[in-house]
Amino acid sequence: MRVIKNFVDGKVFEGSSKRNSIVFNPATGEEASKVNLASKKDVDFAVEKAKKAFIEWSSKPPVIRARVLFKFKELIEKNSDELTKLIVAEHGKVYDDAKGSLTRGLEVVEFACGIPQLLKGEFTENVGTDVDSWSTRQPLGVCAGITPFNFPAMVPMWMFPVAIACGNTFILKPSEKDPSCSIKLAELFKESGLPDGVFNVVNGDKEAVDALLINKDVAAISFVGSTPIAKYIYENAAKNEKRVQALGGAKNHCVVMPDCDLDQAVNGLMGAAYGSAGERCMAQSVAVAVGNIGDKLVSKLSKKVEALKVGPGLDKNSEMGPLVTKQHLEKVRGYVDIGVKEGAKLIVDGRNIKLQGFENGYYIGGCLFDEVKSNMKIYKEEIFGPVLSVVRVKDFASAVNLVNEHEFGNGTSIYTRDGDVGRSYANKIQVGMVGINIPIPVPMAFHSFGGWKRSLFGDQHMHGPEGVRFYTKLKTITSRWPSGIRSDPEFIMPTMK
Ligand code: NAD
Repeated sequence: MRVIKNFVDGKVFEGSSKRNSIVFNPATGEEASKVNLASKKDVDFAVEKAKKAFIEWSSKPPVIRARVLFKFKELIEKNSDELTKLIVAEHGKVYDDAKGSLTRGLEVVEFACGIPQLLKGEFTENVGTDVDSWSTRQPLGVCAGITPFNFPAMVPMWMFPVAIACGNTFILKPSEKDPSCSIKLAELFKESGLPDGVFNVVNGDKEAVDALLINKDVAAISFVGSTPIAKYIYENAAKNEKRVQALGGAKNHCVVMPDCDLDQAVNGLMGAAYGSAGERCMAQSVAVAVGNIGDKLVSKLSKKVEALKVGPGLDKNSEMGPLVTKQHLEKVRGYVDIGVKEGAKLIVDGRNIKLQGFENGYYIGGCLFDEVKSNMKIYKEEIFGPVLSVVRVKDFASAVNLVNEHEFGNGTSIYTRDGDVGRSYANKIQVGMVGINIPIPVPMAFHSFGGWKRSLFGDQHMHGPEGVRFYTKLKTITSRWPSGIRSDPEFIMPTMK
């Protein structure tokens, strides 16, 4: 069986670890390969190489770094079919969706190609008489990224293109469930002319993550994953004096107002709730039906959920692929069982789907609940599967309260024809990313991505201008040259006279 190793200092790195984990093909349930789980010693070796590479890489002019990124962009485009197939093979999502996620990652590379412009800084002539002052942003050193299974290309690419463009070196610790894409990206980056040691991939689990958290040469950690681990990363990175951004889980609400274009809302919800089998941090898992729209909404949704085409990701007819692992399938099915026990009305039950020829794949059909209440477990917790809950509320104010009281605040959207309602929702809602008649409001690469509340620990969002701020530190220089006015010693705070 193929063993996926690490990629360190420009080459495959065997490492000292004897521990492996199985990577499955979710479409068939077969064991596809093994991934080697790096030891602390292996991680420390990667950090040492990245630290060494930082000296030269950080001193390269931004325009030279940008040229490598331009080449990297070209190679991703050239190899997009292979990268997409790697995502489908290990994650399970359908081909076009996987390709779309790769494109969203590629757009961050495109953004990072503009790094000379982004790092220009600020300059003030004559902050005092003959005194000038300027601010510049400098790289941090070795940065690390720890990423989840659900976007094996896009989420790592939220991080490393910006970090590397800013002059940092990077260690990526991808999800052990679908690690192949990261290795391919590392090979392509090397082919683009990136010096060895600037971008490294260590595969692993908690041992590798903990090694990154305690290594004093890691300056910053970017994390994306579930909330309990995000909190653990945030606390431990901060304790070890690192800069940290840790993005967590979500429960995204879509508010459906009685005046909306209902067909548009239903189509939006279908894609947002069931696309990628609900394994998206921006998946809409709660539809909030306002006023009298509930019956019509549920009736239209149920027909479409029943008609969802579930199948392997490489089948062109599939709209929804399998879940990532057997354990995850059991967890999602378990939530549906709980919902029924809690008294929610299961309108469409996808639990017992069987696909001919793919009997061992991790499939579940779309599930739709009505009359879900805010005290139910299926409402409070993130299910991360194709399960949509409809909650009915009497008016707009109750919808806003419901969303604001939820512990997560990643994304949300509202469907309405009333501009005042849409504006008011965007203004009042305690959520980081808001869509108005847009089902999945994922910001483009030149804006920044991040949630509020327990969906993000830390101050800065990812990619876009916030990414540049996260991966650089500010330095402000004030200068006067000897030919200027000479002054006597001053013992009071200098002020402008
Ligand atoms: P996860 O938290 O299980 O794993 C994420 C990463 O943390 C992986 O690399 C994993 O190896 C590592 N990890 C797991 N357990 C660990 C431990 N005990 N100690 C140290 N490291 C550990 O998440 P997942 O199941 O891979 O991904 C799904 C989750 O990610 C969902 O909750 C989803 O909402 C979230 N997510 C959030 C965003 C966002 O932008 N907020 C984006 C994508 C996914």
